[in-house]
Amino acid sequence: MKVVDHIKKAEGKTLFSFEILPPLKGQNIQSIFDHIDPLMEFQPPFIDVTYHREEYVYKELLNGLLQKKVVRKRPGTVGICAAIQNKYQVDAVPHILCGGFTKEDTENFLIDLDFLGIDNVLALRGDAVKNETYFSAEKEGHSYAKGLVEQIVGLNKGEYLDEELLNKSKTNFCIGVAGYPEKHMEAPSLDQDVLRLKEKVDAGACYVVTQMFFDNKKYFQFVEKCRNAGITVPIIPGLKPLATKRQLSVLPHRFHVDLPDALILEVLKCKSKDEVRQVGVEWCIQQSKELIANGVPFLHYYSMGKSDNIEKIARSLF
Ligand code: FAD
Repeated sequence: MKVVDHIKKAEGKTLFSFEILPPLKGQNIQSIFDHIDPLMEFQPPFIDVTYHREEYVYKELLNGLLQKKVVRKRPGTVGICAAIQNKYQVDAVPHILCGGFTKEDTENFLIDLDFLGIDNVLALRGDAVKNETYFSAEKEGHSYAKGLVEQIVGLNKGEYLDEELLNKSKTNFCIGVAGYPEKHMEAPSLDQDVLRLKEKVDAGACYVVTQMFFDNKKYFQFVEKCRNAGITVPIIPGLKPLATKRQLSVLPHRFHVDLPDALILEVLKCKSKDEVRQVGVEWCIQQSKELIANGVPFLHYYSMGKSDNIEKIARSLF
């Protein structure tokens, strides 16, 4: 079922969803199930599965030549989605990237998803890989998520690159895209970034999921800006409980988000790892409560490979 139909069906009730990462180096699928099992009692209508591009390293050989070696850190997104839908009977939402994909690769990926009965995709550009300063698209790929949205919409209309497939069967994907309450790091301003988001929605995206934020004011202001810009689709807030002292610097660096001083001070006072986790969980619960009170359609949690803190949060809310 489409994410937007879950929202309609809920009639204003806030629902629970979360994102998981494929296990490192394609290790055991059981580690994914162990992660999901404790969260199923909170009845997530969908679970997102991230996609991770292959990266390349160059090894110097004895003769001085360089050998290109592929590194796949977290393969398996499509298979994991199929396994989730089969085991839990909930919708799995694979992330799909521009980066590393030609248009043909994208078409093949989407045809596979369609065969597997997957109804939703989150369409993203992806980041620059190591050794790249800026993101660069494949020669026959998309430079921005908007192009990817357009291709998926085209496929939904039966427009295949392979002309023999033309109008044979149409896909029917519901497309989500990313939004950034604190602006995407490359955007010259938040207003410009919102205009780019509007382009993705106008191209056919049905909902937005936000980057994590730790101050709800940022989300509320972002939603207002989006509405003023004419973006009317649901904007699902993405939340992550802070879990370690190190994340005080890692999260702003990696995700380009600010942390509120009140949260930083609470974390700095902590004397143990458990105390830090508890502060992170409490903060996220307070954020979640305020968002529910404001009628958000979903609370979408970034688990980043740890379900125990998400479980604590969900237990106090759902
Ligand atoms: P876009 O919407 O293409 O925007 C990228 C930048 O380009 C923005 O600054 C935008 O303002 C600008 N822009 C857009 N169009 C134009 C134009 N025509 N001309 C000039 N500038 C333009 N990454 C992964 O690798 N795997 C994942 O699974 C993954 N999941 C994510 C889930 C969520 C909810 C979020 C928020 C992010 C996720 N990311 C993931 C990270 C994402 O790939 C990066 O943030 C990436 O840098 C931008 O992706 P985007 O789809 O927002 O890009």
